[in-house]
Amino acid sequence: MRVLIASTEMAPFAKTGGLADVAAALPKALRRIGVEADCILPLYRGLDRQGFPLSQSGPAIRVPMGHREESGVVMETDADTGVKAFLARNDRYFDREFFYGTKDGDYVDNCERFAFFCKSILEWIARSGRRYDILHCNEWQTALIPAYVKTLYSNEEAFRSTGTVMTLHNIGYQGLFWTHDLPFTGLGWELFTPQGIEFFGRINLLKAGLVFSDVLSTVSPTYSREIQTKEYGYGLEGILQARQEDLFGILNGVDYDEWNPKTDRLIAARYSNHSLAGKTACRADLLAEFGWAGTVSEPVIGFIGRLTDQKGLDLLVQIGGWLANQSVRLVVLGTGERKYEEAMEDLARRHPNRVSLRLGFDNRLAHKIQAGADIFLMPSRYEPCGLTQICSLKYGTVPVVRNTGGLADTVVDADEDPSGGTGFKFNGYNEGELTSAISRALAACAVSRRWKAIVQRGMKMNFSWEASAREYVALYDRALNKRR
Ligand code: ADP
Repeated sequence: MRVLIASTEMAPFAKTGGLADVAAALPKALRRIGVEADCILPLYRGLDRQGFPLSQSGPAIRVPMGHREESGVVMETDADTGVKAFLARNDRYFDREFFYGTKDGDYVDNCERFAFFCKSILEWIARSGRRYDILHCNEWQTALIPAYVKTLYSNEEAFRSTGTVMTLHNIGYQGLFWTHDLPFTGLGWELFTPQGIEFFGRINLLKAGLVFSDVLSTVSPTYSREIQTKEYGYGLEGILQARQEDLFGILNGVDYDEWNPKTDRLIAARYSNHSLAGKTACRADLLAEFGWAGTVSEPVIGFIGRLTDQKGLDLLVQIGGWLANQSVRLVVLGTGERKYEEAMEDLARRHPNRVSLRLGFDNRLAHKIQAGADIFLMPSRYEPCGLTQICSLKYGTVPVVRNTGGLADTVVDADEDPSGGTGFKFNGYNEGELTSAISRALAACAVSRRWKAIVQRGMKMNFSWEASAREYVALYDRALNKRR
């Protein structure tokens, strides 16, 4: 079986979040079980080529974009994992400082940019002679592909039996655009209906994927149920309910070649669940990194992630004063909405002995936090899967999470489960429940034997990609059967 994964990010070439990790690790895991999986993403200015050479793949392509025609070319390179990465190049669209937009907002021509990306993929396949059984699309930026396979390209031989799979990594982002952008998509007005891609008077690109894709998936079983409800569906719950037979939840794995304290070269010392001494060295190193050299006995709480509503930043800011009154140290690494960056800066300024903040994207520091913290905090409003809590389990950093989406599926509450659990969970999205979960974690942390058992149970959990890759193969088979 040949699968092309279409994504706007792929580690290590281009990454702003978990999607990049998935787009790198899934094809690698698929290849291990005999599926020929490649990945295609845009060739951004900020692409980190890692020194790999680029070469052109197939002929140059021309893509109609409204009244104009844009030309493009697809380049290829090999990731060191053996996965082929294809890069769709058009400098007008992708030779920019950022992938999606600046701090002040999305690029205004994002509909055009990603419609180009989708069309260029189909043009390239049709003209280059490469053939794929499955086009696996991810997020709204690639959601036009299933629509194109069944409309603009329905007579194209290359796609006659191609199955499409659409994976939703975060339904809060849907690609909403005004109707003036419709010509760039190349789709006709007959699709601009509530059953098609219309969404309250605007174009909704994600809907194109939800309507036209053969199979739908999301990144955890709990989230696949949540998005069929009003609270989590962001207006798309109706269409997801209508397609529930075709909607599956497959948990993301973690690439343990990258994230494993036994082998991690980015942390101060290596350790495992049999020998935790290295974690103490990592803790000291982390504290020094955040400006607290010397002996610190208080539990260290870590947070890594986008500083946004989704990640529960409003709650974190609300409990900041309470947290600063506890005997803890909080280290925060992230970037995001300006109001949250400022609020966290303010908190750190007011409580320099309790809170330390690093604004930015820093993979090395993310590893150090995973290894050096005692507790990992993730109070997300919603969380499709979440990778950082899965990593934190492996690093023996006990997660305190909201009981939602992938957090619900990966963390077992230590006060509730007879097995003794791997972390602490809270249900309601409010200050009281969050502070009580943190308090429960701190109480457990004070009892060293119990804490060590929680830490070690978490470290033994296995969320590797192997099992998930097999589930994806079953989805691909299902999509192919639907096309037959
Ligand atoms: P998201 O919703 O952002 O995709 P995930 O938990 O699924 O959240 O994945 C986030 C990924 O990005 C993890 O690999 C995490 O370590 C990484 N990450 C997030 N923010 C930062 C940051 N500021 N610096 C370094 N890595 C980060």
